Amino acid sequence: MAMYDAKLTNLCKHINPEVESNPLGITSIILSAAEKLSGSLLPLEDHLSLKRQSPHPPDVLQSVENCESTLLESFEIQAIRIPSSVNETIETLVLNLSSASYYLDVIAEALGVTEASRVQVSRTIGKASSEIRLYFCPKQQLLDQSLEPLEVHRVQLQGSLNVRASYFAGQEVYGDAILASVGYVWKSANLFHEDLSMRTYYRLLINKIPSGVYKLSREAIFVAELPMAFTTRSNWRGFFPREILYTFCRQHRLAEPVFCIRNSSLGTSTDPHGTCKKLKVTEPIEEGKKSPVLAAAGGGESDGLTGDFQCEVKIFSKCQDLILQFLSTKAYKKQTDAVQNAALKVLLWLNLFFSESNISSEKLSSNAKELGIQFYSEYFLKEFNICSLVHDFWMSFATVEDGLLDHKHMKANDDMLENGVFSLNMGGQASGVNPSSGSLVCIGYTSCLVTEGGMKEHLESNEEFEFEMGIGAVVPYIEGILTQLSVGQSACFGAELPPLEFILAAADDSPTTISLLSSGKCSLEHTITLLRVTEPLEDRMEQALFSPPLSKQRVEYALQHIQESHALSMIDFGCGSGSLLDSLLDYPTSLEKIVGVDISQKSLARAAKMLHSKLNSKLDYKVSSNRIKSAVLYDGSITNFDSRLCGFDIGTCLEVIEHMEEQEASLFGDVVLSSFCPRILIISTPNYEYNVILQKSAPQNQEEDPDEKNQSQAYKFRNHDHKFEWTRAQFCDWATDLSRRHNYSVEFSGVGGAGDVEPGFASQIAVFRRKEENPKSVEMAHHCKVIWEWSEGDRSKSAL
Ligand code: SAH
Ligand code: MG
Repeated sequence: MAMYDAKLTNLCKHINPEVESNPLGITSIILSAAEKLSGSLLPLEDHLSLKRQSPHPPDVLQSVENCESTLLESFEIQAIRIPSSVNETIETLVLNLSSASYYLDVIAEALGVTEASRVQVSRTIGKASSEIRLYFCPKQQLLDQSLEPLEVHRVQLQGSLNVRASYFAGQEVYGDAILASVGYVWKSANLFHEDLSMRTYYRLLINKIPSGVYKLSREAIFVAELPMAFTTRSNWRGFFPREILYTFCRQHRLAEPVFCIRNSSLGTSTDPHGTCKKLKVTEPIEEGKKSPVLAAAGGGESDGLTGDFQCEVKIFSKCQDLILQFLSTKAYKKQTDAVQNAALKVLLWLNLFFSESNISSEKLSSNAKELGIQFYSEYFLKEFNICSLVHDFWMSFATVEDGLLDHKHMKANDDMLENGVFSLNMGGQASGVNPSSGSLVCIGYTSCLVTEGGMKEHLESNEEFEFEMGIGAVVPYIEGILTQLSVGQSACFGAELPPLEFILAAADDSPTTISLLSSGKCSLEHTITLLRVTEPLEDRMEQALFSPPLSKQRVEYALQHIQESHALSMIDFGCGSGSLLDSLLDYPTSLEKIVGVDISQKSLARAAKMLHSKLNSKLDYKVSSNRIKSAVLYDGSITNFDSRLCGFDIGTCLEVIEHMEEQEASLFGDVVLSSFCPRILIISTPNYEYNVILQKSAPQNQEEDPDEKNQSQAYKFRNHDHKFEWTRAQFCDWATDLSRRHNYSVEFSGVGGAGDVEPGFASQIAVFRRKEENPKSVEMAHHCKVIWEWSEGDRSKSAL
């Protein structure tokens, strides 16, 4: 039996995809194949079954007899019954197996038939190594032998289509089905068996959709969807997008996805296909190994691949019909980034189809267009037609269970905060270390299901859970709360329920959970503690290599100019969380008015919080040495004109321009020197030539992408958000041209390292000085939004 089980599994790996989904089609193909096997197998006429023609050889019989002398054991395994009617609930059942009988007979009995030969067996479900299969028996098994195998596949079987089981199996399943993990594995005479729980069932179910695969790889209930972007390998947690796409295609019986890399810097090739390399990657890349993706770019030519890589993805059905294709419009410096981001885009779109039931084809198309995906709806719908039936079932399941739909509308009451969070309680000493976009945070958490009546069921906890902030790796409410916490602090709060399947995939005890869920209004209760924040790589490098840290040196450089110039007013373009504004309150300056402008509302909120508490604090604080009369924070882009940003004594723009596209940076240069016209303007930006030193000696570098090491000459940018990093010559050209056109003088300098030693300063700085005494008058125009405003009177008010 063991041998035949395994052999049959092997045979079934090569079934013609045309008939794959139809059990009758498969059977007829196997029967006709068996006829050609010169008499060793004999098709039986009344059943769709095969029989050995000759008896077993004596040595085989002998070995079986020997086996009988060993102890007969019997055991129970838990399996799952999936009724064909979606109105009946899925339940666990117990199979009594023993080494004296054939397990298929036991399953046959549970399905209500007398013989194992009437049971049809699906392929394995889930992971490649799994033994989980579906067992079912279509009521009518008469087959017209005269039909050609390919004609047979539309013959309607009796019994109703089991939608849920068909969805799992990737083939049509009729009548009730049993899901069990049992069978003889390759080269083993022992029966492998394992219990299946409802939790396993729900995990298999959500594993069919992209966000479910990602979620399971992270094992966290608040990882609701896929992240929006892939930044770096070192910050990504969970399965990589490319792996998820492979899993998805396997789960849905599609051909393996095809990735294709274009390198536009090699684009001069005359061969039309020369710049596009098809990557023959059959196994998902294992962590740590040299990526085959990189290997495809070819060893020798990798020198100087500062690269502009674009990745194309194609998805084909098993019959090789093109279902969809995607070509990224964006170019990436690294091949891995191009591949992972392309896979992610495709997954995001596929996920839309699975997470929104009854999504209209217009919406699918418009979303595809937005993402740059082209899909062929005829083939797409052919492959995924059963999935839409399951969507309906998901909805109906929710209505069958009393009150389950209600929870969506619950808690629309007064204590509801932003993002569906309520009853927020925060505790612990503030440490001043806050997470922000791009940082890697580590939290510990516990999540429970709570009913309105106060019943509570533990769902999940995790001592250390890491993720990158700002890319949508977790549901928005978690990020929203974390930005309010500093390391060491905790928060306890309620939140709305995620989709039912996600809860059941997490719950150990499904019956209790389901009964809680049906007992009335439920919600989640999370307790999270912020354990660690790892700053973006750029910050870590700057802190590790420079003392004082480079960011501090930039601030001190600006402060020195502020003091020397006796400026009364100062504006910080791209102030971020206000580190410069913060520090200058600690020193005596002549400043009376300070302004910050940025486009990041999160950063501005943090800046406001900090400035507010510093400016309002008691007079004995060292703040007393400053003469600040007013402070304003604006939300708006510094490339747009706003008359309120004009006429300052000094303007600063530290490490901002490289976060914009080069054209935007030039636009800012023109606007600031022609319209805002500060008397002095200080602009800093990384010196690309210095990266060689940063990246050779940064201790944290090891944990970065191992593939990187192979791209010998190309130094990566210091921060994934940088759109460019300039050499000294590039910066000098840019700034000199600007100063000439707008009647300013310019001087170059920097911080970190030395100006007269190669490769120059770590951060390069240009100081512009206006030559004209009085700038021209400007027209009133407001586009910035005032985020926060303070004037001296406020301090006396708060002192009272
Ligand atoms: N100057 C700060 C922050 C540097 S990070 C410091 O030295 O600490 C770069 C900042 O530029 C970010 O806060 C980002 O939101 C901001 N930024 C990028 N493009 C911008 C634009 N067009 N207008 C205003 N701010 C911008
Ligand atoms: Mg920067």
